[in-house]
Amino acid sequence: MVQSSVLGFPRMGGNRELKKANEAYWADKLSRDDLLAEAKRLRLAHWKIQKDVGVDSIPSNDFAFYDHVLDHIQMFNAIPERYSKHGLAPIDEYFAMGRGHQKDGIDVPSLEMVKWFDSNYHYVKPTFQDNQTFKLDSDPKPVREFLEAKEAGIVTRPALVGPVSFLALGKADRGQTVDPISLLDNLLPVYAELLEKLKAAGAETVQIDEPVLVYDLAPRVKDAFKPAYEKLVGDKFPKLVLATYFGDIVHNFDVLPGLQNLYAIHIDLVRNPEQLESVIGQLGAKQALSCGVVDGRNIWKTNFKRAIETVETAIQKLGKERVIVATSSSLLHTPHSLDSEKKLPTEVKEWFSFAVQKTAEVVVIAKAVTEGPASVREDLEANAKAMQSRASSERTNNPYVKERQSKVTEAMHERQSPFPERYAQQKTHLKLPLFPTTTIGSFPQTKEIRIQRNKFTKGEITAEEYEKFIEKEIEEVIKIQDELKLDVYVHGEPERNDMVQYFGERLDGYVFTTNGWVQSYGSRCVRPPIIVGDISRPAPMSVKESKYAASISSKPMKGMLTGPITCLRWSFPRDDVHQSIQAQQLALALRDEVIDLEAAGIYVIQVDEPALREGLPLRSGRERENYLAWAVNSFKLSTAGVKDSTQIHSHFCYSEFQDFFHAIAALDADVLSIENSKSDAKLLKVFVDQAYPRHIGPGVYDIHSPRIPSESEIKDRIEEMLAYLKPNQLWVNPDCGLKTRQWKETKAALTNMVNAAIYYREKY
Ligand code: GLN
Ligand code: ZN
Repeated sequence: MVQSSVLGFPRMGGNRELKKANEAYWADKLSRDDLLAEAKRLRLAHWKIQKDVGVDSIPSNDFAFYDHVLDHIQMFNAIPERYSKHGLAPIDEYFAMGRGHQKDGIDVPSLEMVKWFDSNYHYVKPTFQDNQTFKLDSDPKPVREFLEAKEAGIVTRPALVGPVSFLALGKADRGQTVDPISLLDNLLPVYAELLEKLKAAGAETVQIDEPVLVYDLAPRVKDAFKPAYEKLVGDKFPKLVLATYFGDIVHNFDVLPGLQNLYAIHIDLVRNPEQLESVIGQLGAKQALSCGVVDGRNIWKTNFKRAIETVETAIQKLGKERVIVATSSSLLHTPHSLDSEKKLPTEVKEWFSFAVQKTAEVVVIAKAVTEGPASVREDLEANAKAMQSRASSERTNNPYVKERQSKVTEAMHERQSPFPERYAQQKTHLKLPLFPTTTIGSFPQTKEIRIQRNKFTKGEITAEEYEKFIEKEIEEVIKIQDELKLDVYVHGEPERNDMVQYFGERLDGYVFTTNGWVQSYGSRCVRPPIIVGDISRPAPMSVKESKYAASISSKPMKGMLTGPITCLRWSFPRDDVHQSIQAQQLALALRDEVIDLEAAGIYVIQVDEPALREGLPLRSGRERENYLAWAVNSFKLSTAGVKDSTQIHSHFCYSEFQDFFHAIAALDADVLSIENSKSDAKLLKVFVDQAYPRHIGPGVYDIHSPRIPSESEIKDRIEEMLAYLKPNQLWVNPDCGLKTRQWKETKAALTNMVNAAIYYREKY
């Protein structure tokens, strides 16, 4: 009989209960006992959902208060001393590592948090010392949670991050030089002890995640697999299912012979279905294959016909006993349940499947291949109908958009003249001084703004009233920019709830959920819009606000748009057409917007692309270059329709461009503003080495903190930048938008920033 399995379930709860409980606990509004009780309730509820639909392998230890990698850091006692030395309660020590701790005379910043592969989830990076040792917690969380489920009558399959990935995803602590993978021998006994305890508690199988297998691996990391897993296989241990996801493992096939004694290998057949047959060829004689056919990263209903075909292919080669039907990855990256969506168009809702629905999907597929399609005929028929409805819907297919895409030419991607000629025109047209000052777009989103937006959404004030309010806000920020003597103004983005959602709501082809929250990090959740069909722009999206702002300003007004890649990456994309096609559709919509802005008298236009880097395919080489080619093209298509005298800006929230500098240069943006205040000015060296000719505004102060940078501090930053960039190349701006700041500190910081710029302007 073919087993069904889920690799992980979202932790937050249907109403983000975990977020609320965590935040209440942090604010001292919930006791520790109540927090623990709430977590227990959520775990049980999530196990029950899976048990009730009949999932065979239900995960445990997929729950985490903050992050599952952080759970392992604490459980293995890989806790840097700056956290352990205060004698905090375990849960507080844990949160201190996750989010910093500033209380009762203790002041430690958090450990570093980075993106989990190419997802929008962030994990806490294990941080190791040169003399690092490991010690298993006396009451290890996976055992505790396994027993908790068992007590409720549910036998689970604990999920762990594997030893190689745990080390390879970590780093040496500040001032340390240890190569994490060299710690393997120290770490393995701890894994062995944990696995033995799980077995003793009654766990038959354990899921052990080694997602680093989808990366290009350094030889010493590759070589770590065989010795690691030799030590973790045997009668005293549970059987191991080694899980990979978000990519294929074909380029790491030389690792698989060393893993043939494990019970099963899990692969992602949603992302890389083509790896199926070759992986089967690498399996051990009795080894099982867990087929990830239900997408853990997106919200689309699984195409049962296709998934069943895939699983059948595996069964033909391996037999039913050696095949498992699974989600492609943990369902952590999908919203909780479709049931709470009351406002989605019925037609569209039929096409979706969130975590709760996906757990039922693995069961149906497993049943179909075990007992034959007749056993689930109704499910298959309903599914086929939904697939058919989606494929033929007018919402999905817009002939006008396709027609337009067929007419896109090479020339549409290029500005009229090269940069020097453009700049000559922009200089006279915009009358910019040396060291021009500007901001990145948003000004503080005050409580008043949120109140009015809420009232408008709820229909408590009219569109005209809301519009008047926005105009008043714009007037206010213009007055402030006058006082600050900035050089290029912004309208402040008071009308925007979110930089992607705002545009999505104004484009055809998008839909929005009311409760489709997905964990981004810690207690923070995002609600990505969903691209359901061909994208087009029925009407201008930002022209009214920018035009109004320009009409009352004495200085150039900068129009502000979110770029095509960021719109795509921060949404749930379609899975029925390639992402490059969706990016091009977004680009065409934005191109119209850019041209309309110019026609409305906006001669500086910024197209933000902070998500460009996170879209980079996990492996270098051809796939990455392909991505960069279409990503760059979509930016160029959206911006190249303007006159030479109009200045195109772009913005990135980081300054590590070494790996893909050629793509940044290829954007051909007249001005780039980038984060730099927390990074090393040395990172600017790449602009010199590559003889980058255009203009750059490396952020001169951190916008994430309420701290006010002094004028002299900002001057020092500019001085450092001048070691790399020419005076006539340099813009002066903060790191990023100011929406999360208060007005008081914003004004003070910008006053110092403008004074620093004036100092250099007079000096040069
Ligand atoms: N223009 C946006 C803002 O200022 C940019 C935000 C971002 O880069 N994440 O808010
Ligand atoms: Zn930014």
